[in-house]
Amino acid sequence: MRILVVEDEPAIASSVASALSASGYQTRIATDGEEAWFLGDTEDFDLVVLDLGLPKMDGLAVLKRWRGAGRQMPVLILTARGAWPERVEGIDAGADDYLAKPFQIEELMARVRALIRRAAGHASPVLTAGALSIDTRQMRVSIDGTSVAVSPLEYRLVAYLLHHKGRVVSPGELIEHLYGDDDARDANALEAVVTRLRKKLGADVVETRRGFGYVIAAGPE
Ligand code: CA
Repeated sequence: MRILVVEDEPAIASSVASALSASGYQTRIATDGEEAWFLGDTEDFDLVVLDLGLPKMDGLAVLKRWRGAGRQMPVLILTARGAWPERVEGIDAGADDYLAKPFQIEELMARVRALIRRAAGHASPVLTAGALSIDTRQMRVSIDGTSVAVSPLEYRLVAYLLHHKGRVVSPGELIEHLYGDDDARDANALEAVVTRLRKKLGADVVETRRGFGYVIAAGPE
């Protein structure tokens, strides 16, 4: 899962980004409205945390331009405490949720998890497919109820496929969503992660569709 954090106050931006990274999300920080608009318009994010008071272009204008261009990623806006007209305007402009500053990082994280789940059509923080389940609150993977130790990258891969279960996800899309901007990105490294996961979770949990990508089958509910 890849999250864009748009915030011009460095202390808030870095505390939000580090909490998100600690929970297994890839993050990218934008510190002004123009940079934010460009990144959100040209790259794929699973969620955006968007401060409204920004240099160069305000957050509301950024959001309106994204929605006007058909960009549909969930957006959580950060507003000043008590600024209810701003929140109303933000939600009307296409924000999915809001949080008033100052906020507790735990509340932000809970809202982020809920928005990502809902965007993928899941109401529960526990996602399942057959014997496989993950608890997105604890970043825990289990098979038949028994917890399996996985690396952060392996967790991100299973979580992404499970959020999109039943859909074949291309290697390019997975690489974009799993790796940070500085990490190596190549399809062979990805295949190696999938191979390790099959050893841990069972050979048939993640299927490879040759030439198309990877899928966790939806299976019977
Ligand atoms: Ca600000």
